[in-house]
Amino acid sequence: MNLEKYIRNVPDFPVKGIQFKDITTLAKEHAPFKESCDRIINHFKDKGITKVAAIEARGYVWGGVIAYQLGAGFVLIRKPGKLPADIISEEYELEYGTDKIEMHKGAIEKDEKVLIFDDLLATGGTAKAACNLIEKAGGIVAGIAFVVELTGSLHGRDKIKGYKIYSLLDIPVEE
Ligand code: AMP
Repeated sequence: MNLEKYIRNVPDFPVKGIQFKDITTLAKEHAPFKESCDRIINHFKDKGITKVAAIEARGYVWGGVIAYQLGAGFVLIRKPGKLPADIISEEYELEYGTDKIEMHKGAIEKDEKVLIFDDLLATGGTAKAACNLIEKAGGIVAGIAFVVELTGSLHGRDKIKGYKIYSLLDIPVEE
C-alpha cells in the first residue's frame, strides 16, 4: 500500500515556509493506519522490547498500538509541566532558543530495551533528546521509529546516528 498518498502537505503551517506533513489524514483511514502500525510492529517484534516511549501528541496515536502489539509497556514523553509526578528532563536546541521534554522518574527500568516513537523526523533534535532521556533513566534505546522522515537538507538522521532508525516514508524536504 502506498502510505505516502495519505499524508497531507500543508504549506506555511505553523509558520511561513514550513511544509507541514499532516499525518491525521493517514490515521483517520483504518487500512493505512493499520498498515503503518503493522509495519513498525513487524520490524521490531522479537527484539526484546519491553517499553515503547512516544513523544506527545501525535506519537501517542501509534505508540500505544505498537506497545500493545509488541507486548510492551507504554511511556509518555511530554512537553514541560504536563506530567504530575517526579520527572527527569532533557533540554534541546531549536533553530531559535531551546525546548524541553520530560518523562516520569521510574518509567524505565535499568537496562530495559526501549523503542522510541515519534510521527516525524525533521532536524532530529527531539529524537536525540528522547534518546538522552531514556539513557539518563538507565534504559537502552533498541530503536527509533517514525512514520515520516524528512530527507535532504535537515540531516536529522545524522543527529541520531548509531541508533537503529526505522522510517516508513522518506519524503524530501522542500526548500
Ligand atoms: P525535529 O526535532 O526537528 O526532528 O522535529 C520533530 C518534531 O517536530 C516531531 O514531533 C514532528 O511532529 C514536528 N515536526 C517538525 N517538522 C515538521 C513538519 N514539516 N511536518 C510535521 N511535523 C513536523
